[in-house]
Amino acid sequence: MNSIFVLTGAGISAESGIQTFRGASGLWEGHRVEDVASPAGFQRDPALVFQFYNVRRAKIRAAQPNAAHLALARLEREFPGTVTVVTQNIDDLHERAGSRNVIHMHGEALKARCRDCRNISPCENNLDETNRCPACAVVGRLRPHIVWFGEMPLFMDEIYLALSKADLFISIGTSGQVYPAAGFAEAASQHGIRTIEVNPDSTKISPHFDEHLRGPAGVKVTELVEQLLSSSG
Ligand code: NAD
Ligand code: ZN
Repeated sequence: MNSIFVLTGAGISAESGIQTFRGASGLWEGHRVEDVASPAGFQRDPALVFQFYNVRRAKIRAAQPNAAHLALARLEREFPGTVTVVTQNIDDLHERAGSRNVIHMHGEALKARCRDCRNISPCENNLDETNRCPACAVVGRLRPHIVWFGEMPLFMDEIYLALSKADLFISIGTSGQVYPAAGFAEAASQHGIRTIEVNPDSTKISPHFDEHLRGPAGVKVTELVEQLLSSSG
C-alpha cells in the first residue's frame, strides 16, 4: 500500500468540543445554514455573518486537537507512503495536531479573503466591514475565507488526483450530505480502492464502504492507525 486518502468532516472535531453541523435541530450553532453560510445570507445581513464566524473563530482557537487528529498526524509521519488529509472542516485542528499534507476544500475560519483582489490573509481575531485588505489596502472588502453553499469547493483538481492514486480511502465523521465530498466514497469504490468509514452512526453514504468502524473518532481512528502502521512496517 502506497497512498492513503483521508476525508474528514465535522465529526472528527466533535470530541474537541466543536459542534457538528447537523445536530437533531438541523441548525448550525442555532442558525439556519442559509443565513450564515450562503452568499445571499451574507448580502442580506453581513453583520450577522461576520459575528457568526467571529464566534466560530474564537471557539476554534480555544479548542485542542483530539486523539483522532493526533493519530492522523502520526500516520502521516510514520507511514512509508503518502497520506493526504482532505478536510471539509474550517478549523485548524489537523495542522495543530501536526498534519502537514492537509487540503481544506471548504476554506478556513482563520483566514480572510478580499472580494476585490482575491488575496487570502491570516485572520486570527474579529473580522467585520472595517477591516483593511493587507494586499490592496481597500477597507470593507474582506470576507471569511469559507466556501459557502452554492460556491465552488477549493482544490478539486488536487483532490481528484490524490483520490485516483490512493489504495485506501478513509472517511471520518462526515454525514455525506454535502457534495462533491459526499461523492468521494462512491468514486473510490468504483476505482476499486478499499474504503473504510469511521462514524458512530450509519450515514447516507455508508453503503459505499467496504468496512465500517462504528464509534467515536478518538477511539476508532487511534486503533485504525495502530493497525495500519503495524501492517505497513
Ligand atoms: P455533519 O455535521 O453533517 O456530520 C457530522 C458527522 O459526524 C455525523 O455523521 C455524525 O454521526 C458524525 N460524528 C459525530 N460525532 C462523532 C465522533 N465523535 N466521531 C466520529 N464521527 C462523529 O458534518 P460534515 O459532513 O462535515 O458537513 C458539515 C459542513 O459544515 C462541512 O462542510 C464543514 O465545512 C462545516 N462545519 C465544519 C466544522 C468544523 O470545522 N469543525 C464544524 C461544523 C460544520
Ligand atoms: Zn484586496
